[in-house]
Amino acid sequence: MKKLFVCAAILAFSGIAVLPTSPASAQTMPKDADAKLWMKALKIHRSAIIVDGHNDIPTPMVDEDFNLADNSVGKFHKDGDPYHTDLARFKASGVTAEFFSIYVSGDTLKTGGAMHRAMDMIDSRNREVERHPDALLACATAAEIRAAKKQHKLCAMMGIEGGYAIENSLYALRNFYRLGIRYMTLTHNVSHAWADAHGDVPKNNGLSDFGKEVVHEMNRLGMLVDISHVSEKVMNDVLDISTAPVIASHSGARGINDHTRNVPDAVLKRLASNGGVVMINFFPAFLDARSRSEIDGREIQLKNELDAIQIQYKDNLAARVEAERQLRMAHPIYIASYTRIVDHIDYIKKIAGIDHIGIGADYDGIPMLPNGMNGMEDLPLITYEMLRRGYSEVEIKKVLGENFLRAFAQAEAVAKIGSRKISGDGSLKRLVQ
Ligand SMILES: [Zn+2]
Repeated sequence: MKKLFVCAAILAFSGIAVLPTSPASAQTMPKDADAKLWMKALKIHRSAIIVDGHNDIPTPMVDEDFNLADNSVGKFHKDGDPYHTDLARFKASGVTAEFFSIYVSGDTLKTGGAMHRAMDMIDSRNREVERHPDALLACATAAEIRAAKKQHKLCAMMGIEGGYAIENSLYALRNFYRLGIRYMTLTHNVSHAWADAHGDVPKNNGLSDFGKEVVHEMNRLGMLVDISHVSEKVMNDVLDISTAPVIASHSGARGINDHTRNVPDAVLKRLASNGGVVMINFFPAFLDARSRSEIDGREIQLKNELDAIQIQYKDNLAARVEAERQLRMAHPIYIASYTRIVDHIDYIKKIAGIDHIGIGADYDGIPMLPNGMNGMEDLPLITYEMLRRGYSEVEIKKVLGENFLRAFAQAEAVAKIGSRKISGDGSLKRLVQ
């Protein structure tokens, strides 16, 4: 009976022929759920346009030649973190538009190669779109996302994570726009020449003059400015000057969990008047203080044993990763439930309003999902939990995607993407270091 129910759920989300998938990649009704409410949630979920702000699957697409058609259920990345994404899981999730993260590490400030890395990542998105034309579309506008929903295809969007990628050149920024990049997270975890990162030593007291030029140019192009990962000062500096809505592509509310990756109340209020959106990250350490302290505490507690594993398996990465995973599994910790995500939704609704909340799960970029979730396929749980807490269908659809679409369309309108030239009157600045 349960298995039949699972299959029905997949069929409902796909809208077209069911892809071959194992039952393990399908969302099942939570044990204690009200069956009628669950069916109502699925109906809302499958009719919604759903946008997820951040997915790190391009990293294994580049580094491990991961093909999205491969079943990723129960598999682990080279670094030992579980896979959350594949085509069947995309279908089961109901997601309409996914931001493939063109992630460039702050390490490139030392090693060089930031732009090269971004190019490799962009190629991996294009390669997958070409491999799977029946399932994926390379979208770049709000209108294309709405059209993709009607075609029952997934929009594979792109956002750069880490402003290092432009190598201090507005020429490069424009070319990234031409290649399809529609947001840029100004930093990752390391401060750089024009913007300061969360949790790192500031280099610019926020956004430098060149950093402000980057924001102006992004506004002019219609590329969203992403304030996940930046310092609080940069968040405010961006909001002082941005003429378009600003997003936090994968962050939560600092008022619930005081983590620098989350957005403080004062910034939430400013995002409300800016028209922006905070897209909530699903990592338990960002969602919940107790989970964070137990995750960190376990790493400290197991340090000696983890060091020993490193030495023992120094020539065998797969064996090392598996041994580390087994060790952690033998020391279970508190991992917050998926309902904690909806606590963040409740909170941001209270501080900024329902129009400024979105989803930015960070699939394949985080070492674990909240309790009750195994991968993308479990996204309908969020719809169910919002419905259970009394959210209306309109409110749920705003959170799932309509808020992002509004902000994105507004950024396109500010840029006048239909009539402006990409080169246009753009600044010709480069920062020479
Ligand atoms: Zn991130």
